Amino acid sequence: MEIHQLVRPNILQMKAYSSARHEFEGEADIYLDANENPNDTGFNRYPDPLQWALKNSIAEIKQVDAEKIFLGNGSDEAIDLLIRIFCIPGVDHIMTLPPTYGMYQVSAAISDVEVKEVALTTDFQLDVTSILDKSNQHSKILFVCSPNNPTGNCMKAEDLRSLLQHFPGILVIDEAYMDFSSASSATQWLDEFSNLVVLQTFSKAWGLAGIRLGMAFANEVIIGLFNKIKPPYNINQLTQDTAYMALENLDEQENWVKEILSERERMEKELITLDCIEKVYPSDANFLLVKVSDAQAIYDFLVLDRIIVRNRSKVLLCEDCLRFTVGTPIENELLIEALIRFEELL
Ligand SMILES: *Cc1c(COP(=O)(O)O)cnc(C)c1O
Repeated sequence: MEIHQLVRPNILQMKAYSSARHEFEGEADIYLDANENPNDTGFNRYPDPLQWALKNSIAEIKQVDAEKIFLGNGSDEAIDLLIRIFCIPGVDHIMTLPPTYGMYQVSAAISDVEVKEVALTTDFQLDVTSILDKSNQHSKILFVCSPNNPTGNCMKAEDLRSLLQHFPGILVIDEAYMDFSSASSATQWLDEFSNLVVLQTFSKAWGLAGIRLGMAFANEVIIGLFNKIKPPYNINQLTQDTAYMALENLDEQENWVKEILSERERMEKELITLDCIEKVYPSDANFLLVKVSDAQAIYDFLVLDRIIVRNRSKVLLCEDCLRFTVGTPIENELLIEALIRFEELL
C-alpha cells in the first residue's frame, strides 16, 4: 500500500518545527543554542526529542527495529496523532468495532472526524465481511483492540491478516493488554504490511500508568509522519528515565504478570461459583468481564463497600456486565467476600 496517498495533503506539505536539538544532533562541550539554564539541576536540558536510548532498549525487548518505534504521551497521544495524520475532517472517517475502547471515538470527535461502527459478533470476534462491506476510500483508519477492552478476548490472527490484506486504509491493532495474553503480537507482521500500526503501553503490565508512555510500532514511513507532527519534546526526561529503568528490571514486570495471571485464573473459578454471577467471559487481559444478575445493584453495593469496579452494562453486547480489574490477592479476596455478602442480602 502507498501510505503517502492516505495522508492529509496539509500534513504532507507542511514543514515540521525544527528545534535546537534537531539543528545540531552531535555531542559538544558547550550548549548555548536552546536558551536553557546552564546550571545542572539534572533536568535543565531539553530531553532527546526522539528518545533514542529508550527506543533502543524497547527495540531489544520487543524485537522491533528502533526506527520502527514511535513513543507517545500515552497510547492516547498516538491515537490522536494517527487521526490527525490521515483523516480530513468532514470528508474521511475512522471505523471502530464496539464494544471497544472509548478513546478512538473521543479522539475522532475532537478532530471532527466521523466514526463508522461495525459491531463485533456475539462471541466478540471480527465480522470481517461487514467491516469490508462498509469501508470505502474514505475509511482511513480501522481500530481493532486485541485483547479487546472490555471483552478481554483476542481477535483471531487469520481475521486480522485478512483485514491487513483487504482494508483500504491503516489498520491499528491496539495491544494494550498483550503482555497478559499467550497470543503473539502483530509486530511480527510489520515487515509484511505497510498499513499496520501496533499500539502497546507502559500503563498496564509495566505498572507505569502515571508516567504516560505509549508505544506505536509501524514501518518507517508512518513513524516519520508521527515524528513530523508530534510536539517536539512530547516525552519528558522523567518519563524517559523511569521507563528506561523499568526495562532494565524486566524480571519485576514478568513476576507481576505471573501473579496477575494466576489471580485471574483463581478469580475466574471462584466468581463462577457465586449465584449473582451468571457468566465469566474468558480473558486474555488483566480484567474479567462478568455477566451478573443485576449490574447496577451490585455496582452500588460494592461502592458502599468502597470497592469500585466498571459498570459496562449500558455497552452494546455487554448487557448486565461488570468489568473487574484483577487486583492484589487481598483486594481480589475482599471483592469475592463483598459479592458473597451481596448474595446473603437477597
Ligand atoms: C488502558 C488502555 C490503553 C492505554 O492508554 P495509555 O494512554 O497508554 O495509558 C490503550 N488502549 C486500551 C484499549 C486500553 O484499555
